[in-house]
Amino acid sequence: MVNSVTQAIDFKTIDKQQILEMVSAADRLQRLSELLAKEIRILEISQKISSQTQERVSKMTKEAILREQMKSIEEELGGADTEHQEIREFELKIKKAGMSKEVLERARKELARLAKMSSYNPEAGYIRNYLEWLTDLPWRNEKKSSVDLKKAEGILEEDHYGLKKVKERILEYLAVYKLAGKMRGPILCFVGPPGTGKTSIGKSIARALGRKFIKVSLGGIRDEAEIRGHRRTYVGSMPGRVVQGIKQAGATNPVFMLDEIDKIGADYRGDPSAALLEALDPEQNEGFSDHYLEVPYDLSNVMFITTANILDTIPPALRDRLEVIRYPGYTEDEKFHIAKKFLIPKQMENHGLKGDKIEFEDESIRAIIRGYTREAGVRNLEREVSAVFRKVARKIAEGETKKFTITVKDIHGFLGPIKFLPILAEKEDEIGMVTGLSVTEAGGEVLFIEVTLMPGKGNLILTGQLGDVMKESGQAAMSYVRSRWASLGLKENFFQKVDVHVHVPEGAIPKDGPSAGIALTTAIVSAFTKVSVHKEVAMTGEVTLRGRVLEIGGLKEKVLAAHRAGVKIVICPADNEKDMEDIPDYVQKDLKFFFVKHMDEVLKVALIRPPQPASRKSVPIPPPAYMA
Ligand code: ADP
Repeated sequence: MVNSVTQAIDFKTIDKQQILEMVSAADRLQRLSELLAKEIRILEISQKISSQTQERVSKMTKEAILREQMKSIEEELGGADTEHQEIREFELKIKKAGMSKEVLERARKELARLAKMSSYNPEAGYIRNYLEWLTDLPWRNEKKSSVDLKKAEGILEEDHYGLKKVKERILEYLAVYKLAGKMRGPILCFVGPPGTGKTSIGKSIARALGRKFIKVSLGGIRDEAEIRGHRRTYVGSMPGRVVQGIKQAGATNPVFMLDEIDKIGADYRGDPSAALLEALDPEQNEGFSDHYLEVPYDLSNVMFITTANILDTIPPALRDRLEVIRYPGYTEDEKFHIAKKFLIPKQMENHGLKGDKIEFEDESIRAIIRGYTREAGVRNLEREVSAVFRKVARKIAEGETKKFTITVKDIHGFLGPIKFLPILAEKEDEIGMVTGLSVTEAGGEVLFIEVTLMPGKGNLILTGQLGDVMKESGQAAMSYVRSRWASLGLKENFFQKVDVHVHVPEGAIPKDGPSAGIALTTAIVSAFTKVSVHKEVAMTGEVTLRGRVLEIGGLKEKVLAAHRAGVKIVICPADNEKDMEDIPDYVQKDLKFFFVKHMDEVLKVALIRPPQPASRKSVPIPPPAYMA
């Protein structure tokens, strides 16, 4: 029986042979039953697949028949005309768009495909979408307008207070553009905290050149396709943000601001910064290729300006091509003038108020700046001013007719309790507590470094969301203090029975960089020597293991932050003395600066009493253990 069943069924030859070779009847039956079970399973699956396929085919046939019927009905009712009309409209738009020969050919080819297609074919939708993009994009080059530098200077001055260096750099850039007749060389990058006038300067440049202005944010982009578009084969595909921006501007030569290029990332979906470079580079952007458009688009007449809050996170390949213009943030005095001349008149107009109805006392403007904002830019200041006007507008709308003079008291009434007290006002000279200076995305900032000692085993604990570099400078600071025990007046094994905890408060904000080196070291020295640190001293500087103080970046931002916080004395590296020319005179007058080369000088200024060496005699250094 086994033999006849095996022979009748379509088993593989090798399986049949196996059964034939078996002797025991039980084994043969067992093997046959396994093979039969497998065969049954295969038949079941193939039956299921074939019934599913059949269902799908019949559904598709049904849909096709229904579509054809619908088409006939529409034709009866005269709807087919709309299809022809659509084709005619596209023809007209293509003719008017001013496309180059290559693009024109492409558009005509797609249109011919569309004309042949049933409008119910899903592909017709894609083609229609594509043709809409092609015909909506500006293709015709604008007439070249010459750059009038005097006018540009006038407009920049008219729209902005201060920013002398920025304005100068921009005028130089425009002068080169005027002479070269084309955008050449590096791409402008405005770097600075929010609300320092980057966008607003961009708009003024556009106004000065008589061009459209468009701003596109790149924050959070990780995918190359966001810049360069998705291929048309993807459902819902679109051109990238560059082409979208151009369409929105409606001109081939806008001033195009790419915001937040420090916030683009790269991952497995490709590197957006490479695509961005291709779009920005004047040498190769004449034929920028967007995956969706498939035809080259000429970006060479676009004036690109990029912006960033910080430089560090911009991908290096991109950073190399940027001409950085820094917006360091404003002093209180600059903010006052910006508010008086620009923000207040602008907000007054926005709220439908007239200048003869309402007036700000100078002191009340300063009260807003001091008590209700703490920022490098003027964004919150503008918001608070607008809040004041809202309250006044309501009173006027309710029928009040007298002229308003806004006093400091009114400000407290309108804006509520003071939000920010001067940071250092309530601080005391303390042991193990140092004021450092740093630069974050929001501009310069004071930060406090706290060190505390507790019984332990010589461990160093660092907390407050510190980055790797800052942690390492903490360790270096500790090693420096340990190696200098004698001159600091400490016992040789002073650290062995204690743990050192270094904390930088406001733990939610990540902090990094080497420039807190001298502050960390000072805090540790103060904690061990039990000598307090002057409360009005702030400091910034990198420190080496030998105690040499090295140059840091962003001095202006840091000094302005110190000034805002009410610091009196600033310690900074001697190599940074050259940066002092950027710092406004009256800030220099308010602060006392110490330019230092070595950690010893820092301690002399910062500690209320300089460290005393343990003894006047030089301390002999014992030979290393392996030599003994
Ligand atoms: P950013 O782009 O740097 O974040 P904005 O350009 O949006 O900042 O500036 C915020 C507001 O402050 C705008 O209303 C701008 O006009 C105003 N502003 C900033 N700096 C100045 C300045 N120097 N003079 C006049 N107005 C300024």
